[in-house]
Amino acid sequence: MGKVWVVAEQREGKLKKVTFEMVTLARQIGGEVEGVVIGKDVKGLASELGEYGVGKVYVADHPDLEQYTTAKYTRVLAELINKEKPEVVLIANSAQGRDFAPRTAQRVGAGQISDITGYEEGVFVRPIYAGKAYTKVGATSHPLIVTVRPNVFPAAEKTGGQAAIEEVAVSFMPEDLKAIVKEVVKQVSGRPELTEADIIVSGGRGMKGPENFKLLEDLADVLGAAVGASRAAVDAGWREHRYQVGQTGKTVSPSLYIAVGISGAIQHLAGMGSSKVIVAINKDPEANIFKVADYGIVGDLFEIVPLLTEEFKKL
Ligand code: FAD
Repeated sequence: MGKVWVVAEQREGKLKKVTFEMVTLARQIGGEVEGVVIGKDVKGLASELGEYGVGKVYVADHPDLEQYTTAKYTRVLAELINKEKPEVVLIANSAQGRDFAPRTAQRVGAGQISDITGYEEGVFVRPIYAGKAYTKVGATSHPLIVTVRPNVFPAAEKTGGQAAIEEVAVSFMPEDLKAIVKEVVKQVSGRPELTEADIIVSGGRGMKGPENFKLLEDLADVLGAAVGASRAAVDAGWREHRYQVGQTGKTVSPSLYIAVGISGAIQHLAGMGSSKVIVAINKDPEANIFKVADYGIVGDLFEIVPLLTEEFKKL
């Protein structure tokens, strides 16, 4: 095995947790683990990544990389891949990674394996049929681009060492700069981001109305959790689409997923089936969600959720 690259995901001067999760996977794959950091004023992040047992970190630091655009990231990464010829390139299966990974793969003539959740003896494991089954996929050619589902692999610990930092010359073609990000509008929330949260409390049609999500917010506040929703709750206008979990929403893999008043349709399971522990609260003992739940409570959510909140407060 040659070089295995971890393409860091960073936002506002911070490396995202998935970056360190990809370092763990890179070590499992073997070979020379190296990092790539792309952005503006990111040399400090390259040094930080170098403390996690990464042999070398390539840093593409350029004022035009302050805002992410597909074309700019693709240009930088594709040129670097062509020059350095890594065998495997790991990219987060985040909204951003899903955007530039396939374009980069096309540019460098690489194959891509998407949304992997495991690695076993040279092959990658990925969910198919909306999470109903898993398939094992290997590569017959390199470089290979692999997008990695966040929150699945444990984050690597610091090893204390320092990596060699190599600055990458960045230049763009006029077509790379056609799209300009004029403004980034941030949603302000005191809660963790859904795809990064360790605990998620999600509500479905059983919540009966937007005002009742307050019950879930209270529970989430005690647990330090994010609040998600099923599509039924989103389609009803009770929650914004950015909170939707599932096939046409976000894919999440928290340590604990509490599904409240959610029936467990296949499209919902597609987004949360890889959660480590699933707890379901539903008044229907036949609800499909109980088939995937590790713990189930059959009963009225309007009684159970406040009780849980009170009990967790005592801990
Ligand atoms: P329901 O199926 O209506 O379930 C509500 C549940 O609440 C029931 O099980 C009921 O027993 C329980 N309940 C009611 N009252 C109470 C109470 N007082 N206490 C306890 N339990 C109670 N869905 C998604 O979630 N995410 C997606 O991304 C998604 N993408 C889709 C894509 C496509 C192409 C299609 C066709 C569908 C998609 N869906 C998605 C929709 C999906 O098929 C289901 O319709 C949806 O998940 C149902 O949401 P729900 O479980 O909240 O509602």
